[in-house]
Amino acid sequence: MAVSGLPPYDEHNIFARILRGEIPNKTVYEDEWALAFHDIAPQAPVHVLVIPKRPYCSFADFSAHASDAEIAGFTRAVGHVARTLGLESAGYRLLANMGANAGQEVPHFHMHLFAGRPLGPMLNRPG
Ligand code: AMP
Repeated sequence: MAVSGLPPYDEHNIFARILRGEIPNKTVYEDEWALAFHDIAPQAPVHVLVIPKRPYCSFADFSAHASDAEIAGFTRAVGHVARTLGLESAGYRLLANMGANAGQEVPHFHMHLFAGRPLGPMLNRPG
């Protein structure tokens, strides 16, 4: 599903391989629409990635091409993970990197969920 200005979806990216069961993951939650698993290099005591099951490179791609049911299912999966991990009272951060300026490493749309300590300012201040 090419989006203007973006390369087509790369079927060999690491999250596509996880979804095909080619490499293992530490699953936190799975349903028809989404898979949530622990990040391999956690940047907070809780660092979970939530990915849609179908192939989208970016939020632009996902929001333009996913069905209403997929968008609802993915959004509910993110909320379900936060609730079931007990993160609501202390708080948590959702973050999605898109493209080079955001430092996106894996070209399959994903939401990071960080928690477990005060997470500091949203962005590094310009130095
Ligand atoms: P991003 O920079 O937003 O594309 O984030 C990609 C994230 O995927 C990074 O936080 C990586 O640590 C994480 N990651 C890469 N490979 C794996 C893997 N095999 N299992 C779990 N997380 C991974």
